[in-house]
Amino acid sequence: MSRGLLIIISGPSGAGKGTVYNKVLERMPKIRKSVSVTTRLPRQGEVEGVHYYFKNIEEYQQMIANGEFLETASVYSNYYGTPKAQVMQMLERGEDVMFEIDIHGAKQIQKRYAHCVSIFLMPPSFADLEKRLRERKTDSEDSIQHRLGSAESELAKYEIFDYIVFNDAVENAVDKIVNIINAEKCKIAYN
Ligand code: 5GP
Repeated sequence: MSRGLLIIISGPSGAGKGTVYNKVLERMPKIRKSVSVTTRLPRQGEVEGVHYYFKNIEEYQQMIANGEFLETASVYSNYYGTPKAQVMQMLERGEDVMFEIDIHGAKQIQKRYAHCVSIFLMPPSFADLEKRLRERKTDSEDSIQHRLGSAESELAKYEIFDYIVFNDAVENAVDKIVNIINAEKCKIAYN
C-alpha cells in the first residue's frame, strides 16, 4: 500500500479557500480533512474539533514545545498549526489528507514531505478579494485591513506552489483541483 498524499490548498484570506476546500471534499469524500489548532477565538457557528481545535496561547506554546505540530505559523496575529499525530496516522493508513493553510505553513510542509502537492488559489482580482472578505461578515474592520495588507505579498509568492488555480467561479476551481489530485494520484513516482 502506498502512503497517502498531502494536498495543500493555500492562498490569501478572501480567495475562497474554505468554500473550495469543502466542495472538493464533497466530490472526493475519501480524502481526509486536517483539522487545525488555533489561538483565534471561535466565530459564531464554529465547532470545536470540526472547524478548529481552539486553544489559548499557553496551551498552544506547550504544544509547540512538545513537538506536536507538523507546521505552525503566526497568521494575522494568531497562531495556527497542523497537529502532527492525526495526519501521520492517516498517511500511514494510505489515506490522502488535505490542508487549508497559509503560505508559511505550506512552505514548511513542502520542505519536509516530498509526497505532497501544493495548490495556490488565486482570487480573480484584488477588488474581488476585498469584496469577499467584507461579504462574509466574519471579521472586524481591523482584521479585514490586516488581511488585505498581507494579501499583496502573499499573491506575489504563488511561484512556490506546484499549481495555480484561479477562483473565477467556484465550480471551475473545484473541477481543476479535482483533476490535479486525480493526476497526482496517477504519478508513477508515488506508487
Ligand atoms: P481564519 O482565521 O480565516 O480561519 O484563517 C486565517 C488563515 O489561517 C487562513 O489563511 C488559513 O488558511 C490559515 N490557516 C488555517 N489553519 C492553518 C494551519 O493549520 N496552519 C497554517 N499555517 N495556516 C492555517
